[in-house]
Formats: sequence, structure tokens, C-alpha cells
Amino acid sequence: MNIQAYAAAEPKADFKPFEYKAADLGPHEVLVAVEHCGICHSDLSMLDNDWGITTYPFVGGHEIVGTVLWKGDDVRHLQLGQKVGVGWSSGSCMHCRECMSGHHNRCSTVEATIVGRHGGFASHVVCKSEWAIPIPAALDASKVGPMFCGGLTVFNPFIEADIRPTQRVGVVGIGGLGHLALQFARAWGCEVTAFSGSPAKEEEARSMGAHHFVNSRDPKALEKVRGSLDMVLVTVNVNLDWNAYINTLRPAGTLYFVGAVPPVEFEVMPMIMGAKRIMASPTGSPATAADMLEFCARHNIAPVTEHFPMEKINDAFDHLRSGKARYRIVLDRN
Ligand SMILES: [Zn+2]
Ligand SMILES: [Zn+2]
Repeated sequence: MNIQAYAAAEPKADFKPFEYKAADLGPHEVLVAVEHCGICHSDLSMLDNDWGITTYPFVGGHEIVGTVLWKGDDVRHLQLGQKVGVGWSSGSCMHCRECMSGHHNRCSTVEATIVGRHGGFASHVVCKSEWAIPIPAALDASKVGPMFCGGLTVFNPFIEADIRPTQRVGVVGIGGLGHLALQFARAWGCEVTAFSGSPAKEEEARSMGAHHFVNSRDPKALEKVRGSLDMVLVTVNVNLDWNAYINTLRPAGTLYFVGAVPPVEFEVMPMIMGAKRIMASPTGSPATAADMLEFCARHNIAPVTEHFPMEKINDAFDHLRSGKARYRIVLDRN
């Protein structure tokens, strides 16, 4: 069968209709008929070959929602017609130490949905069944796509850093990732502080769960929250004054990076004296993804989305490039 996709021929090029033949499905693979696909900032980085790993023609799309159209002989836990989501990862080896301990996202040979293969800006996408995550019926399928990359990326730190409801969490950057992190932190039971350089976002940040709003361009405002937070979750991808953020942590607090920040500099002595730590992680495991979806259903958590028909993919990318997306873009197939 042929898959109808949208591909870019070179860095920064427009997407154009592109047809390719689907390979025969392996025994553990599923073919998903795509209904919606979010656009993540990583799709833009890959389109532009910012990381030097893009192959062309490039078919992006790794926030995929669709139904299982066909499955390999050994796939027993998914049904034909079942609604599933596929995120950044589309396969893992299933036998290394990380896979065997439930950390498939850390597998050294993890297959990325849009690296060296074709993603979800298409009629169909193929993935290994362990990464096709069933979507609870309570969730709005048209909006849930961004949870499979953006959502999982900011949900996983709550698990990895073992955050408790009695703790205080700060979120740096109120955008595609940050607006989801605020909702998670609030529903987790934490006291939530939003850090943003855009004071105009205060009201919205509060509506998404922030108890406090700190203008991150004001050093005095940062100083005011010194020593008060257990985790500061960094969702931006630019360098900031990290010493100022380390100062906002309580002893044993965690500065947690999920944005692809360039090389950072910070003073070690405050880290030592406060027994503080720096952490980072890539998305999350399939089990964490399933837990996240259940948590979203329980607490009515959803991304704020803007929708474009998939054939308007170039308009959608222009919108993302302009920095005006509020907060996640989703492409819909009709
Ligand atoms: Zn992504
Ligand atoms: Zn593995």
C-alpha cells in the first residue's frame, strides 16, 4: 500500500505531497491511520536540520493520533480500530537493560519517529506496538496529540524527580511545554510558580494552574523567591542566568532541563552547599505515557491547541516559526 505524506526536499523547504510505499509490517509493528498530528518545535528543528541528523525527503510529525488499521502477527494487546497515539519514539530494542527495566525512552537504539524514517504528516505511520499508546475514551482525540511529545516530556520529570504533592514547583517558560507543566504541577497538588519574561502571560498562567507569577526579566523578583522551590522545570531552549534559578531552589532541590538549552554555566558551590541537583530526561516511557493519559482524564488536563487542516501544513509551520502559536498546533486530516 502507498502512504500519502507531506515531505520537505531540503532544509527550510516547503512541504509538498509525497507518496511512498509502506514496507511489509514486522510481527511487532502496527500501521496507524493518522487522524491528527501535532507540530512540535522539534519538527521545525528537524526540518531545518538544526541537529545535523535529518534525511530528505523529510516527513515530520511525532504527535500522532489515529487508529490501528493493521497489526503484526505478534501484536496481541492492541485491537484493530483502537485509538492510539505515537510520540517521539516509535521503537525500542526491548532487550537492553533500560528496556528491560521499563525505561524504553532511554534505550541506546531507540527509534525516533522522524529520524531516518517517515513520521505522521501523512495518511499512515508505522511503529513498534510498544510505542502505540492506547488513548482513554474520556480524552478528546482531536486535542490529545501534543501530549505524546510535549506533554510526556514535562510529565516525566514529576516521576523521575519523585515530586510529592506537598512540594513547590516552578516552571520556566510558558509556551508549548510550560502551559502543560503548569497544569500537571497544579493537579499533582503542588504549589506552582510560573517564570516568564512576558508579563502579559500572567493571567493565562494563573488560569492554567500557577499560584504565583514571577517576571523572569526582573532579578529582584527572582531574588524574592530564593530558597523556596523543590523543582524548577526548565522548558525554554535558550540560556538564562542559571545561578539565579539555582538560588530559587530549597536544599535538595532540582533544576530540571527538558528544553534543548545550549551548553550552560553555573556555580558549583551553591549546588554543593545546598545538596542541589541538576537533572534532564528525554520524553518518557510507554508506561509513563499511559499513566499521563489517565492523569489527564482524571484532572481534565488538555493542551491549548490551534488547528489547521493537514493540507495547510506550510501555513501551520509559518505560524510556528513566527513564534505566535498558542500553544500547540495540531494538523487534522478530514
Ligand atoms: Zn516533540
Ligand atoms: Zn533497549
